[in-house]
Amino acid sequence: MAIGSILVGLALLMLVGIFIARPFLRPQDRPAALTEQELLLAEKEALLDQIQALDFDHETGKLPTEVHALQRERLVEQATAVLQAIDAAGSAPTHIPDKVEDAPPVDVDTDIEIEAAIARLRQQRSQEPAAPAAAAAAPLNNGHTRFCPQCGTPTDPGDRFCAHCGHNLTLTTSTKTA
Ligand SMILES: [Zn+2]
Repeated sequence: MAIGSILVGLALLMLVGIFIARPFLRPQDRPAALTEQELLLAEKEALLDQIQALDFDHETGKLPTEVHALQRERLVEQATAVLQAIDAAGSAPTHIPDKVEDAPPVDVDTDIEIEAAIARLRQQRSQEPAAPAAAAAAPLNNGHTRFCPQCGTPTDPGDRFCAHCGHNLTLTTSTKTA
């Protein structure tokens, strides 16, 4: 039967067509690229955290300036490499950028980006231990809101020690309440 073999041929063609088209039907199914990106992002966060901890140790006097500068430079270098890897991984696999030649050199930008990210993290962390309402309400009031001279955390007027770093606040208080 000619019609029978034609139907069988069509069915085979459809199966082959589906098999060939399968990768194109699910273009977002790329677990390898995704996890690499996630790993890089996690690594970036970890490095920024380390830089921040290093800065904190230096500010609280636990770390000598030379050691701090050396370790910080190394960490910033690593973070820069990770950021560039994230940029590369983000633009490489799925969509091809039209004008790669126009892209400016990224070295300076990533350095600034890292410092900005560290500054953001520091700001977030320094706001955590303070009472948000009191800190926001009083900052311009005749100097009643005080800040720890050691780490800059806002302190309550009644506090004798900084809640953040434990600095003795009574040593540096000029106005004493009887
Ligand atoms: Zn403090």
